[in-house]
Amino acid sequence: MTLLDELSGFEFEEAVASLFRAHGYEDVAVADRIADEGRDVTMRDGDVAYVVECKHTDVVSRPVVQKTHSAVATYDHDGPTRGMVVTSGRFTGPAESYAEGLRDAGDPHPVELVDGDDLRELGEAVGMDLYNGRIEIVCEETLPVGEPGLAVAEAFEDVENAPPRAALPAPETSVVYRPVVDVEAVTRATFETSVGVIHRIDRRDHIVVPAEEPAATSPAPDLLELTGVEPVALDAARDRHGGRVERFDGTEADYREAAAELLCAALETTVTYTGDNNVTYQRECRPSPDDVDVRRARPLYVPRVEAAVAPGEYEHGLVYDAAGPRRVVRRDAVRRCVHCADGEGPYTYCDNCGSVSCETHTRIERLTGEPVCTGCAVTAEFFLDTKYFFDEDNAAAFRREYEAMPFYRKPLENPRLVAAVAAAVVAVVLAAVALL
Ligand SMILES: [Zn+2]
Ligand SMILES: [Zn+2]
Repeated sequence: MTLLDELSGFEFEEAVASLFRAHGYEDVAVADRIADEGRDVTMRDGDVAYVVECKHTDVVSRPVVQKTHSAVATYDHDGPTRGMVVTSGRFTGPAESYAEGLRDAGDPHPVELVDGDDLRELGEAVGMDLYNGRIEIVCEETLPVGEPGLAVAEAFEDVENAPPRAALPAPETSVVYRPVVDVEAVTRATFETSVGVIHRIDRRDHIVVPAEEPAATSPAPDLLELTGVEPVALDAARDRHGGRVERFDGTEADYREAAAELLCAALETTVTYTGDNNVTYQRECRPSPDDVDVRRARPLYVPRVEAAVAPGEYEHGLVYDAAGPRRVVRRDAVRRCVHCADGEGPYTYCDNCGSVSCETHTRIERLTGEPVCTGCAVTAEFFLDTKYFFDEDNAAAFRREYEAMPFYRKPLENPRLVAAVAAAVVAVVLAAVALL
């Protein structure tokens, strides 16, 4: 047999519930049952209600089918009601004959039998691997990777003096496909005290739950804008961009649970109300996971792309989550100063060395008038001011220009000094006028 055997009875019921959810049954719920070894799964298909008995045992015999039949007959539902017995093992001959007998007699409450082989087929049909012990999520869709070269080129558009798109080398790219579950849920809760209803929740939420771990600790709100993009086949994306695929570490039931917990935490609020005695009270209103109905839990991969180019001596990279042309940037080493890392924009590209610099670390080359960074520039003093050059040759060329300047032009090489002198002259003149 398979690793399906390693599931506990409880996990088996959760797995069966996930399976039927994936097959489009509605209101699938694992219900507690009192004083019984198992728990029922109940669900709906249109107006037909199903009561499902789960048996994680090797052999299921006639009494189980019989008991399920009476449970169906007494189930409270306005409409057709059917039974189902699902086992990871097999049914005995008498169990099968009993179910056949109900069907042949046109019983209003027939009981379908689903054995281990059927179960595996049902699982495969919806991409659930029932051979892996945990009914793990097999996901074949990813958001599109997009064009890493374009992403880097667009980042460079925010950098002054940067090389044009066509002049940038093709980026070094790596992709990791990270699992998420895209969840839609409806939460309904009413909070009452002795003075009546103080708070009501009735809302639909859409959240993205990171799925590298079974119990996500926080949703990823910034990925919401990506999940609107149409996914593509994971295989096709990997054929084109390569990349590693990270595993879903939990079952669908784990992520549904995690999503419900996350929503409960997010929707918790403190309500202030006045009691009958005119005293003001405060109460924490937090919905319980039972108030959350997870309508959809779509597993999906989100490509995390690392792309870097080195047009000069420096490498400039970008790390982002991608959905075709949409991106959520995680690390930006394009719009960043290589000299101080925390300097603010605007950023300027230095053609001389290939670095990107903040305003503090950018100068104007005195000879050519182009930007040059303080990291690579050659400096020289002219009229008590520091000038910056691409190299010694440019510095020497400018020295010759400077020597040839008329004497009244040279002070213009130090505008701050000129301004200070002018201010001093004005002050002296004003003082002189005042003395008159
Ligand atoms: Zn800087
Ligand atoms: Zn430079």
